[in-house]
Amino acid sequence: MKLIAGNWKMNGLQASAAEADAVRVAPRPRGVELLLCPPATLLAAFAGRLAGSGIGLGGQDCHALASGAHTGDLSAEMLADAGASHVIVGHSERRMDHGETDAIVRAKVQAAWRAGLVAILCVGETLAQREAGQALAVVAAQLAGSVPPGANAARLVIAYEPVWAIGSGLTPTPEQIVEVHQAIAGQMRGLAGEPVRVLYGGSVKPGNAAELLALPGVDGALVGGASLKAGDFLAIAAAAQGQTP
Ligand code: PEP
Repeated sequence: MKLIAGNWKMNGLQASAAEADAVRVAPRPRGVELLLCPPATLLAAFAGRLAGSGIGLGGQDCHALASGAHTGDLSAEMLADAGASHVIVGHSERRMDHGETDAIVRAKVQAAWRAGLVAILCVGETLAQREAGQALAVVAAQLAGSVPPGANAARLVIAYEPVWAIGSGLTPTPEQIVEVHQAIAGQMRGLAGEPVRVLYGGSVKPGNAAELLALPGVDGALVGGASLKAGDFLAIAAAAQGQTP
């Protein structure tokens, strides 16, 4: 089943929680799993609104530890306690803004699993790395460094997010996406012993979602900017309906 996940990033006030209502009451595309990842300040409001809807709720990051003296951080256990089922880890904005290394990201994946959450692990190359012909090697190294032992399809999802495609309106060519997704799928079969879903992320919009989601090996999308409006998010989800898993 395709997964369409919305990453709200640092956007949204209490009034924006109404978007969750709009997603909840809209006709649900068949065979598509939906997930919303609002900022932590909206998790409780979203949890109340989405309860019983089948729409998942995710955090955007977590600390590796369960509790302690870490001002401003949130643990995976806190996210689960607030109603989350998933957490995004290793997003390029975390890697860049907060200097997160693969080792740190790996510990966060383990924290997610400890708390019973599904980890959505983001990987992807910068434009300089793409232009230097290093995209596959960069992604392979990120996976090798950040996927802990014990990975399986039930608790890990990979998101391929080329850094240069995030929020830029640019997307890789279909051939580039398929090449990286195939490489990730092959590496993950080795690491997890079974297929793990691989999402594409980076400037997914209603206008390009059908084409991107139809590509072989694209098991869904991680959507940033276009997830903030329920209508756009639902249009992307609708584009996933009827596509092969
Ligand atoms: C993201 O940051 O996860 C993302 C995919 O952003 P956008 O869709 O805005 O490019």
